[in-house]
Amino acid sequence: MVNIQKAAVIGCGFVGASIAFELMQKGIFSELVLIDRKKEKAEGEAMDLSHGLPYTKSAEIYAGDYEDIRDCALVIITAGENQKPDESRLELISRNVKILKNIVSEIKKQECEGILLIVANPVDVLTYAAYKLSGFPAHRVLGSGTVLDTARFKYLLGKELQVDSRSVHAAIIGEHGDSELAIWSSANVSGIDLESFWKYQKKRNSIADKKDICTETYEEMQKRIYEDVKDSAYKIIEKKGATYYGIAMAVGRIAESIVRNEHSVLPISVLTEGEFGLYEVCLSLPSLVGQSGVEAVLNIELNKEEKEALKKSADCLKEVILQMKL
Ligand code: NAD
Repeated sequence: MVNIQKAAVIGCGFVGASIAFELMQKGIFSELVLIDRKKEKAEGEAMDLSHGLPYTKSAEIYAGDYEDIRDCALVIITAGENQKPDESRLELISRNVKILKNIVSEIKKQECEGILLIVANPVDVLTYAAYKLSGFPAHRVLGSGTVLDTARFKYLLGKELQVDSRSVHAAIIGEHGDSELAIWSSANVSGIDLESFWKYQKKRNSIADKKDICTETYEEMQKRIYEDVKDSAYKIIEKKGATYYGIAMAVGRIAESIVRNEHSVLPISVLTEGEFGLYEVCLSLPSLVGQSGVEAVLNIELNKEEKEALKKSADCLKEVILQMKL
């Protein structure tokens, strides 16, 4: 039996602690368990967060052990390590898969019937590994995927088009990483296709105050925005060492859709079971998210280039998955 108001965050570093803060602010859980390899870190975070409880919604936040996750509705995994100097990407992936293996085996011992939400990177590979290792049905294993990248995309488009980013309907799908792709073909601003809206705003001169942007073609703008989305994490890491607020809000959004059974469409990382001819790989596709986890993966319309880019993205991920020998 799961308690829908109870969640666990495993890994209380920058990302895990920020997620705990975001979940607490949202007030969607009444019990939040924090687990970290370094127990003191989890204890410190739990104390710090708890001191804000008189100003938020009532909840119990504590550093716990794996026994505490038995009845959790949502288990969020952020535990992972960063690349060491001279270490290859593949070596880092192997180390993070090893960490995940230990965590999943602890979760399995508890016979937890909740949903696993993977955030640690490389999120798509780890989501697939979590699915394989846990034996959980695919709908109960998901990754934060490109929910963050999609927010970055919408934010940048909103700025570019001088419109509220919440009125922008567009998504990044595929790998959460270098092979991800932007779905331009169906992107729109409240029903107006993106190119028409861009032209309309350009005409209104409201986005023409920068000369270089004014002379830019639609295709050049697309390329610039896409590269900006892809480079966001690198740029933030270069400036402040890590990214954590954006991902915390993205995870908060996913958690909210699960707990409140909202059936929101979010580009989470999911197991592909034939969508776009893809099998046995986890990557982001717009999916319905509710209390049972992944309710459906949506077969959205893609043009030829987008289909090819998605296939390429899946191939990149499959290559890594095969080398992991799960
Ligand atoms: P961090 O080093 O600050 O925190 C990692 C935490 O995990 C540490 O507190 C560590 O003690 C803990 N940990 C390590 N192994 C553990 C284990 N076996 N059991 C329990 N806890 C363990 O790192 P961070 O900045 O918080 O990033 C965490 C992960 O999130 C990284 O993999 C990072 O790449 C990823 N991330 C993902 C996204 C996304 O969009 N999916 C965005 C940002 C960061």
